[in-house]
Amino acid sequence: MSDAGDLTFDGRAFINGERVHARDGRTFDDISPIDGRCLTAVARCAAPDIDLAVAGARAAFEDRRWRGMAPAARKRVLIRFAEQVLSCTQELALTETLDMGKPLQYARSVDVKSAAHCIRWYGEAIDKVYGEIAPTPGSALALIEREPIGVVAAVVPWNYPLIMAAWKIAPALAAGNSVVLKPSEKSPLSALRLAELALAAGVPPGVFNVVPGLGVEAGSALALHMDVDCIAFTGSTRVGKQIHVMAAQSNLKRAWTELGGKSANIVFADCPNLEHAVQAALQGIFFNQGQSCNAPSRLFVQNSIKDEFLDQALRLLPNYQPANPLDAATVMGAIVDVAQLDSVLRYIDLGQSEGARLLAGGARVHPVAGGCYVQPTIFDAVTPQMTIAREEIFGPVLSVQSFDDTAEVVRQANCSDYGLAAAVWTRDINRALGVARALRAGMVHVNQFDEDDITVPFGGFKQSGIGRDKSLHAFDKYTELKTTWIRVDSPL
Ligand code: NAD
Repeated sequence: MSDAGDLTFDGRAFINGERVHARDGRTFDDISPIDGRCLTAVARCAAPDIDLAVAGARAAFEDRRWRGMAPAARKRVLIRFAEQVLSCTQELALTETLDMGKPLQYARSVDVKSAAHCIRWYGEAIDKVYGEIAPTPGSALALIEREPIGVVAAVVPWNYPLIMAAWKIAPALAAGNSVVLKPSEKSPLSALRLAELALAAGVPPGVFNVVPGLGVEAGSALALHMDVDCIAFTGSTRVGKQIHVMAAQSNLKRAWTELGGKSANIVFADCPNLEHAVQAALQGIFFNQGQSCNAPSRLFVQNSIKDEFLDQALRLLPNYQPANPLDAATVMGAIVDVAQLDSVLRYIDLGQSEGARLLAGGARVHPVAGGCYVQPTIFDAVTPQMTIAREEIFGPVLSVQSFDDTAEVVRQANCSDYGLAAAVWTRDINRALGVARALRAGMVHVNQFDEDDITVPFGGFKQSGIGRDKSLHAFDKYTELKTTWIRVDSPL
């Protein structure tokens, strides 16, 4: 696979180990945000296709073709699966870039690599997870075991299509479940290839199915399905709330929701390395064109260093100018589609009309004709009441606020519906720990923003969702706790 021109796509669904059209033959066009061209027609799965996929997944679960395998055997298959993913790095990276516009260099070095690592890690973990024996009286033995939950529906967004899919399917499959994955209609192609690679690695047919389609059709059919045992959702808070309602309206399936964010990045005047803090602030908000749930979109800088901080930021800004994502040196690619681009531009207009000061950027640009690109944008003089300080923009827009004292900035940082991530920059260990503990966020960084590891849980407080991806804690979502009491009549 040398370049984008060599790639052809198969947009059919993947059900019971086979590529299939939607039952009613309907499709939707998959448009590349790089230049607006149609990559392929994709199966528009709806309720009848979901029924078929869930029935296949249920049959695979009931006949134990996957969960009946020893954990060490599932491990070997998942490690092979991860190797297959890595062996297709160039193809998958190009697919990701063409489908949702991220720079090819990051699709290769971050997305494909980290998805493969995630699949391998859960494969390697599963034969090292033990049950428990409770400290009960000697006349009774209580075994505490984890069982796979059954049919898991995974519904994921478009910002990191492969990684978001891997965070769900890897622990769910490792634990012995069957999975029906619905990728975003904005980026369905890499998930479909993932299913083919899983089958080639030895995941039995029916165990891992992929049903592309619209959220309101395929997604809601999964959330409402009476034979889905668990729905693992990543996406917006708006839809996440609907997922819980649909789970409750149907069969009370377990619902786990990883949702939006509006992360606070707090820089004190005694920050150990201002240059590093500036770089991290820009990298955090502009990486992936600002389309990261944990992006530090609210920057709080202590007044005494604010001018210097912003001077340095403006000097670095030219490094983030959008360019063709397929070019090797590009660091800022395209926004995922016209609807998202329009939404980002609307927020930029709102920022200006509500009185924030536009320091840089703010306009659509056209490095490739027909594509969706926006300049990296910085607003100063933002106040907590402004829309751009409260709502998730999900684009390359940084809001800068300033503060004088610690209690004030903690109050402002916590003044958000979201609670996904946060950062604090200071040399003072007591202040760092005090602020970290006071912040209502699932993940707090001290003097950095870029650390990330599969061993560490990912998820948030408040309306950033319920549950955690990554780490061994993810197994909690995809297993049921079973206790077995055994009477012990021992004469000795
Ligand atoms: P979205 O909520 O619009 O869509 C997410 C998925 O849900 C898609 O597959 C979509 O088709 C499906 N969907 C949409 N409407 C549905 C419905 N009524 N019923 C069932 N499914 C439906 O979100 P998005 O625009 O794809 O993704 C961006 C959002 O994802 C942002 O808010 C971002 O913060 C969040 N996100 C969160 C995390 C995290 O780990 N917390 C990670 C990545 C992205």
